Amino acid sequence: MTDRYQDIRDAVRDLCKQFPDEYFRKIDEQRAYPAAFVDALTQAGWLAALIPQEYGGSGLGLAEASVIMEEINRSGGNSGACHGQMYNMGTLLRHGSAEQKRQYLPKIASGELRLQSMAVTEPSTGTDTTKIKTTAQKKGDRYVVNGQKVWISRVQHSDLMILLARTTPLADVTRKSEGMSIFIVDLRDAKGLTVRPIANMVNHETNELFFENLEIPVENLIGQEGKGFKYILDGLNAERTLIAAECIGDGRWFVDRATHYTKDRVVFGRPIAQNQGVQFPIAESHIELEAADLMRWKACELFDAHQPCGAEANMAKYLAAKASWEAANVCLQVHGGFGFAAEYDIERKFRETRLYQVAPISTNLILSYVAEHVLGLPKSF
Ligand SMILES: Cc1cc2nc3c(=O)[nH]c(=O)nc-3n(C[C@H](O)[C@H](O)[C@H](O)COP(=O)(O)OP(=O)(O)OC[C@H]3O[C@@H](n4cnc5c(N)ncnc54)[C@H](O)[C@@H]3O)c2cc1C
Repeated sequence: MTDRYQDIRDAVRDLCKQFPDEYFRKIDEQRAYPAAFVDALTQAGWLAALIPQEYGGSGLGLAEASVIMEEINRSGGNSGACHGQMYNMGTLLRHGSAEQKRQYLPKIASGELRLQSMAVTEPSTGTDTTKIKTTAQKKGDRYVVNGQKVWISRVQHSDLMILLARTTPLADVTRKSEGMSIFIVDLRDAKGLTVRPIANMVNHETNELFFENLEIPVENLIGQEGKGFKYILDGLNAERTLIAAECIGDGRWFVDRATHYTKDRVVFGRPIAQNQGVQFPIAESHIELEAADLMRWKACELFDAHQPCGAEANMAKYLAAKASWEAANVCLQVHGGFGFAAEYDIERKFRETRLYQVAPISTNLILSYVAEHVLGLPKSF
């Protein structure tokens, strides 16, 4: 049986074969960045999937991009090292000016520039994004940025970063979602930006950022001033859908590993897979992944058709992250003690997939979105 986009799947799997479990295990042990892997993906054109052909990319949709991310995770790797480029691209593509697209997209497609970072989260406001305190004040032909961000990923392995900052104080806007803007920050030449890496549970390059009078040329504003939050939401829908696909890739990896191991492992004179107590949770994980996958395709189709997809993107991320986390638990459990040995890679993938209960949006916030925006229940914050 072939899956949707089998040609893309086969090609990404072939590339991933050059980066087997040992590669990612070593990178994890060393808390290093999988530079060779990301370079290979870039050279093969996969990270330029969403860039239109006229700018040197392959002009594919979110559905195809999601398959690329899924296959990386399904092969035992971690798209977290490079998925930023996919969804940040969408923001630039949909809201950037013709000049910005001409300036950046061909270089991103060729690998000369990396657009892997997006800075939204702040330490004192968390998920309450409209209260962000980082400001960008227009002074002549520049915006001057002051403030702080936290958990900003891949900054040390990116040339450009999309930054969300307040350009009009919260007190001066009628709707709290207005008065924020997004900018392209050139990280290669960013005076007034201090980057402090955060050691964390996953091998995920992520940082605290401190802005002290960082100057950004006015031409680096994306779209209209004050409308940045709206633009970023579009990008967040792409991000959630891609991460749903990554979780599905993780989940399938866990189910495959659990299936193979339990058929081979003999205890009490028979393969442990013969016990229904062992089989059922694996089967349950498979069912939940299949269901999450349906919602992921629905989100992709709506996004690619430029239709509203907030509910579907959030629900796909919720279902897929839950299914992959449950599959991770099952896989660990059926491996008994061996699941804890680093050489089996399960504990690494277990840590990696756990992140998606919290980032890029936590489960509670998705439930809150669905309660309020889909079911019309009262606003709680
Ligand atoms: C490894 C990693 C990488 C990341 N990369 C990036 C990045 O590249 N760019 C970026 O901008 N951000 C990034 N983030 C930040 C991430 O998006 C946030 O951590 C996430 O959105 C949660 O925000 P918070 O940590 O501030 O939690 P908080 O907002 O402080 O929430 C803490 C907990 O309280 C719950 N909660 C809060 N309010 C409510 C409520 N009203 N009702 C019910 N429950 C509530 C939340 O669900 C959560 O479980 C990253 C985070 C991590 C851990």
